[in-house]
Amino acid sequence: MKNLVILGAGTGGTVLASLMTRKLDMKQWCVTVIDKGFIHCYQPGLLFLPFNLYGYNDKRDVAKPINHSIPSEAQFVSAEIKLIDHENKRVETSEGNFDYDFLVLALGCTVDPSEVEGMAEGMGRNIFTFYTLEGALSMQEPLEMFEGGRIVLNIAEMPIKCPVAPIEFVFLADYFFQNKNIRDKVTIDFVTPLTGAFTKPVATSVLSEIAEQKNIGIIPNFQISEVDHEKKVIKSYGGESVEYDLLVAIPPNTGPDVIEESGLGNGLGYAVTDDHTLKVKKAERIYAVGDNTNVPTSKAGSVAHFEAEVIAENIMREMEGKEPLPEFDGHSNCFIESGFHKALLFDFNYEVEPLKGSYPLGGIGPFSLLKESYINHLGKLAFKHIYWNLLLPALLPGDPLLPGKMSMAGKELEKIVENLH
Ligand SMILES: Cc1cc2nc3c(=O)[nH]c(=O)nc-3n(C[C@H](O)[C@H](O)[C@H](O)COP(=O)(O)OP(=O)(O)OC[C@H]3O[C@@H](n4cnc5c(N)ncnc54)[C@H](O)[C@@H]3O)c2cc1C
Repeated sequence: MKNLVILGAGTGGTVLASLMTRKLDMKQWCVTVIDKGFIHCYQPGLLFLPFNLYGYNDKRDVAKPINHSIPSEAQFVSAEIKLIDHENKRVETSEGNFDYDFLVLALGCTVDPSEVEGMAEGMGRNIFTFYTLEGALSMQEPLEMFEGGRIVLNIAEMPIKCPVAPIEFVFLADYFFQNKNIRDKVTIDFVTPLTGAFTKPVATSVLSEIAEQKNIGIIPNFQISEVDHEKKVIKSYGGESVEYDLLVAIPPNTGPDVIEESGLGNGLGYAVTDDHTLKVKKAERIYAVGDNTNVPTSKAGSVAHFEAEVIAENIMREMEGKEPLPEFDGHSNCFIESGFHKALLFDFNYEVEPLKGSYPLGGIGPFSLLKESYINHLGKLAFKHIYWNLLLPALLPGDPLLPGKMSMAGKELEKIVENLH
């Protein structure tokens, strides 16, 4: 038997296990998925949990057992990965060693509050993060009890996973306090190291306009240096200070230590990966999917899904002695919840930033790009069902409504020309 070993049973690892158990001759191949966790968390739901919105109230609304969606043809191993010995094509884990013929890294990334002075000490007091399940749940009471004052959301540094989730959070905070009839008593500020609300200029201007309409302040170019939770203030390397009553922190995101310690990382734990073939550059027969790559697109579940399709094809090609193809174009798409049952939709890749238009069918939609709509909000909510029932079992590849490569159908092309000038 030959071995395909997949490290991580989150979004990317599960989609790849589903794809590969269908593509490979399972009489000749053993597919093994290894993960140290106990639950698979539907992370987009972490946005709604702090506000108890749209049926997201507790752990059961986002979590299933870790191996819930791993196909039965694959072997699941509950273990911590300690080292990737790529010279000997072997993975060392807490439950023994696993030899591989092909390996996929799908270990995600995590938030690390200890990277900012004073942040870990204040967690759970007046600092909270919704980037973990525990963190999202721990915010419910403080938000419910909040009677007025200044809520500050701070992004410590980039890259972070789901870079739109922070702006969605402040939009929902506006909606939440409007519903409670105390919005006039609450100041909401979005403090970011970026030059604006998002990484891409056109999308930034659309999101900034919405923030302005909602009276949400945007404080750009803020490189956080420390938090003093007793004085309730964050400080920047540039000497600025922002006071808060409740700090919503997006701590630095870091890649898995094991990638760095195995000599495959870029210094921050992200595997050095070819942008288009998704092959890991520092070793043979290893691919990387999802948040643990260093490819310059968003760290998002949609991206992990599109990447998995390319990786599955490339592994099959290599098995047949062919070169992997540079097919991944950086495609990313995501719904951006903007409050009051509306959302926007972004669709972009390495070359083309989010544009206005309709998606997925030109002129028909039903979703509108870069524009708020109720249908987009329904799409955002429906995504949970799609995630568990279609995306993880890899039933979407080939679906014209969710193409792996970005399609220009329905995009307002003149915007591209404008942006070039
Ligand atoms: C608040 C929030 C909102 C989001 N919203 C969206 C959204 O609307 N749309 C979207 O597309 N994406 C969204 N995302 C991002 C999306 O959830 C992630 O990009 C996606 O889950 C990444 O998949 P992955 O497989 O790379 O990593 P993960 O799904 O995080 O899986 C990594 C797995 O590796 C395991 N692991 C790590 N280290 C080890 C080790 N040493 N040994 C054993 N196992 C290990 C972990 O236990 C975990 O199960 C959101 C994320 C957050 C935090």
